[in-house]
Amino acid sequence: MPATRQLPALKVGLTGGIASGKTTVANLFAQLGVPLIDTDVIARQVVLPGEPGLARIIETFGSDVLNADGTLNRSALRTRVFNDQKQREKLEAILHPLIRQNTLQASETVIEPYCLIVVPLMFESGFNERVDRVLAVVTPPDEQLRRLMLRDKSDEAEAVRIINSQLNHDARMSAADDLIHNSGEPDELVQQVEVLHENYLKLSMQREPSQP
Ligand code: ADP
Repeated sequence: MPATRQLPALKVGLTGGIASGKTTVANLFAQLGVPLIDTDVIARQVVLPGEPGLARIIETFGSDVLNADGTLNRSALRTRVFNDQKQREKLEAILHPLIRQNTLQASETVIEPYCLIVVPLMFESGFNERVDRVLAVVTPPDEQLRRLMLRDKSDEAEAVRIINSQLNHDARMSAADDLIHNSGEPDELVQQVEVLHENYLKLSMQREPSQP
């Protein structure tokens, strides 16, 4: 993509249920030269030693949630918040604003016309308010379950539990601006991505006159 624009890049948020195909779709956009910002990667960065996120976690949960080398002991933290909504909310109140802020900062450095921000829990976290468009990858629930069990080697009860903890398929479909249907072969994604790519390039150009 041409790297000549001065204006902020159009922010397209990519979402979808677990194992719906977000990573697969994101990689196809990346092959077209679209910069990707992955909030899962940023979520790991904000809790690295020396980061304010980790300091706040220690303040709130104590140093029991650290490994001997001072890194975050994720499984200890998971155990602390598992089945305890109050504790989970405390953790989210620390992490979500930091993840949001770092993600938006990363998007401000993008020089291409648009970027794709991968946010698995887009509507659940309210991140949809911070992007210009939401693109959802949708897979029929039975196929999503099959792919999840295959990929993560999880049993059915565990896979169903995770899927049910996320926004349901129909709600996600109706809340998104754009959809990619991932019910067939992976090849069928390519053309959908190309059409959307052209559309996002157009949209990013159309908004230029109204930008300061
Ligand atoms: P997400 O990033 O949304 O969790 P992935 O892109 O990792 O989902 O896809 C979940 C799994 O399903 C992966 O193992 C991926 O290779 C596989 N997959 C994705 N799309 C298809 C498809 N159209 N047909 C079959 N398998 C697929």
